[in-house]
Amino acid sequence: MVQHANERVAYHNGEIKPESRVLVSFRDRGFKYGEAVFDTARTVRHKPFRLEEHIDRLFRSMRYLQIDSGLSREEMLSISHEVLERNLHLIAPDEDYWLFQRVSPGVVDPFLSDGEARPTVIVECTPLPLKARAPLYRDGVRVQIPATRRTPPDAVSPRAKTQNYINLQIADREVRAQDPQAWAILLDHDGNLAEGLGSNIFFVRDGGLFTPRARFVLPGISRETVIELAGEEGIAVHETDLDLFDAFTSDECFLTSTSLCMVPVASVNGRRIGEGGLPGPVTARLMEAYRRLLDFDFVAQYTDKL
Ligand code: PLP
Repeated sequence: MVQHANERVAYHNGEIKPESRVLVSFRDRGFKYGEAVFDTARTVRHKPFRLEEHIDRLFRSMRYLQIDSGLSREEMLSISHEVLERNLHLIAPDEDYWLFQRVSPGVVDPFLSDGEARPTVIVECTPLPLKARAPLYRDGVRVQIPATRRTPPDAVSPRAKTQNYINLQIADREVRAQDPQAWAILLDHDGNLAEGLGSNIFFVRDGGLFTPRARFVLPGISRETVIELAGEEGIAVHETDLDLFDAFTSDECFLTSTSLCMVPVASVNGRRIGEGGLPGPVTARLMEAYRRLLDFDFVAQYTDKL
């Protein structure tokens, strides 16, 4: 098969090859049962941000699902760096990549083979959707709470980043049927706010920061970053149960995610959050601290595409 001139390459089971040659068996357990994990870092000015933390989370997710990639943490890191290096010439200097690692147990079928495992490991990158998401920084995110609840930790722990996003996808579809631009934030089984398809949520009240407890959500690397920055800024952080009362009576609200870092929320279920413009003062202070940490204006990177 010929590689197209602008085709990205990806790592697949020991080899770096054109993406079109990364083929996964229909008997792969990742495809058959959704039994796979992944993680997603982003680059900032073409350098990965907190890649080690993402790889550590990937290894925790693998331990939870008892998947062995056959690679050490250091090997996964170095493969990730290499895949990135080999694709950087395909994006402009003002663009950046998502950098994904994906691992499944591979083809292990006790009825068809002797059960010998060969995991499927893929490392790939995809350009960040800067233009598509740029309006979020101008208008704020419209959050909608779907009726679909987040998978409870006693079924499948949301702390693992599994390749199985069905619960989050159904919630997103439910919300987008009402408002195609809205982002779903799911409630947990007790009616407390949990998280969205690729984001954690924060509220500001009386100058303090509030976010759902880590037991019920993916411990986002950007969530951790904001908690750290708040500590440095002397802003109190409360990891606690939060419901719609807390949302509707908050002064400010924002989402965190790898691609967006931090983005202000304009409304929850159509109800405007806060009284002033976006972002509110505490959110703006934290966004500024995030910019300083990255030494990069992540907001301008998006809004320049408007
Ligand atoms: N929650 C879920 C379910 C996610 O998929 C993500 C994205 O990775 C997040 C939260 C945010 O995590 P991070 O800040 O590491 O991107």
